[in-house]
Amino acid sequence: MDLKKRLWPHVTSEQWSDYKWQLANRLTSAKDLEQLLGIKGNAIEPCLDCLGHYKWASTPYYISLIEEDYSTDPIALQIIPSHKEIEFKSPLSSPDPLSEHVHSPLPGLIHRYRDRVVVLASSICSSYCRHCNRKRTWKRPESIPATDSAWGRVCSYLRSHPEVREVLVSGGDPLLLPLHVLEQILKRLSSLPNIKVLRIGTRLPVVLPMAITEGICSLLKRYRPIWLNTQFNHPREITAEARQACERLQLAGIPVSNQCVLLKGVNDDFDTMKDLCCNLQAIMVRPYYLFHCDFVAGTDHFRTTIKKGVDIIEKMWGHVGGMCIPNYVIDLPEGLGKARLMPAHLKGIEDGFSTFQTFEGHIVRLEIT
Ligand code: SF4
Repeated sequence: MDLKKRLWPHVTSEQWSDYKWQLANRLTSAKDLEQLLGIKGNAIEPCLDCLGHYKWASTPYYISLIEEDYSTDPIALQIIPSHKEIEFKSPLSSPDPLSEHVHSPLPGLIHRYRDRVVVLASSICSSYCRHCNRKRTWKRPESIPATDSAWGRVCSYLRSHPEVREVLVSGGDPLLLPLHVLEQILKRLSSLPNIKVLRIGTRLPVVLPMAITEGICSLLKRYRPIWLNTQFNHPREITAEARQACERLQLAGIPVSNQCVLLKGVNDDFDTMKDLCCNLQAIMVRPYYLFHCDFVAGTDHFRTTIKKGVDIIEKMWGHVGGMCIPNYVIDLPEGLGKARLMPAHLKGIEDGFSTFQTFEGHIVRLEIT
């Protein structure tokens, strides 16, 4: 299936690689969805029902990565609205399972851990991922308004909390902000004496890599140390365009790490996860975290079991180098924090001996403590 040819037959390669063209031609409406899926009437109604609850948008670039049947394609599953978002309801799920609102001393500022905060600098994304853990903000933006007074309040909060040394600028997608707004935010944050490190959370390298322009890269370079975290979830997302976007960031001295989400039907098997992490290592993007899918309302159909995730990581341990193995973690509900889900190879320490399980499954007892 060549969706680029079918949906945008007359686009020039210059237009296609222009992020402004991509943003202006996003698919966002029910009509766009009908045209994409090529179905009408009753068959599409369940998808359209979902639009009443959760909005949708995708860049043409990301849509063009779909290759197979919409019901099984790993890109389609992440971007095309599904009736499952409103039909599947786990009793554990909620719009804000991490209780971020409880840890928000100011609107758009989350202070959960002692030494770091998250600021929601934007509520806009170029593409709305169906598994997003901030789906609640799609309806009611919770970001910090781009006004001088709102950011002044954020800065005085940070000044009065000298224990905070790191700020994660997130959203929405902060890299979609106009450059002068982004620059103001980074300038203000990095001028605070206690703030030593900035982090950016963005999915642009995956869904709109052409938006990682030289302009953004040189802006970020001015406010180093900045660490950038993105979210590749499937090896097919590592395209030539994505690789070039990551390279532009790296050449500007911005390390890029990946925070993958374990998603049923998308990447919850060993071969896919191994390929994803090894291919990321090959483009110098560190596979940093593998998140168990949060208990967010509207994402229950994506959640697989912890056992499945642990088995994948266990098998990876025996097959690929340690740099390709992400930390598998779960964000515990109600803001209880992250818990590591890594398989343990140390089985016990007793009487001067330690018992280990080797990567091949053998149990050995050694006189090491
Ligand atoms: S880009 Fe990030 S914030 Fe935006 S919808 Fe996707 S996961 Fe959510």
